Amino acid sequence: MKIICIGRNYVKHIEELQNERPDEPVIFLKPDTAVVQKQFPFVIPEFTNDVHHEVEVLVKINKVGKYIDAKFAHKYYDEIGLGIDFTARDLQSKLKEKGLPWEKAKAFDGSAVIGEFVSKTEFAALDNINFELTNNGNVVQSGNTQHMLWKIDEIIAYVSQYFTLRTGDVIFTGTPEGVAKVSPDDVLEGYIEGRKLFRIQVK
Ligand code: ZN
Repeated sequence: MKIICIGRNYVKHIEELQNERPDEPVIFLKPDTAVVQKQFPFVIPEFTNDVHHEVEVLVKINKVGKYIDAKFAHKYYDEIGLGIDFTARDLQSKLKEKGLPWEKAKAFDGSAVIGEFVSKTEFAALDNINFELTNNGNVVQSGNTQHMLWKIDEIIAYVSQYFTLRTGDVIFTGTPEGVAKVSPDDVLEGYIEGRKLFRIQVK
């Protein structure tokens, strides 16, 4: 499986990092080795002093598709989840300055937390899902999918022009504001509509 991530999909997050608002979705990939195995902690890598949490709504692809029309995109997923796109912000800033690819800052081992998935039929509207991240019990990020610049179906249409989507691929749909540094002993928990979908300890 592959992981496709959307960057800069929430205006307030674009503003907090003082990025430009993009005219097209910003896309990057993570390899399957980025996924933190269930029950394992997230270990801060040695090459960074500033790893940020980015909580994101996830979409799991359920069939193969390419050049998917946005109006048919809903047929390509049944489940919605929640995860973390861990980002070595110090490294990413250096790479961005030089115009270099972000992979070292975004796709390293352990950089993807993928929580449990929930049937999309459990949500009244996919463009009105509340989600949040807590750190040691305190809410640090909270978002609603209504604030996404590109909605799930538009993202699927867009990315499938470039990458064939396969069963089991996961799309990270971007983070809302509130990204911040993690430290050893932090415990991060992710909730969708009050339902806990992951818990991960930082080491
Ligand atoms: Zn992200």
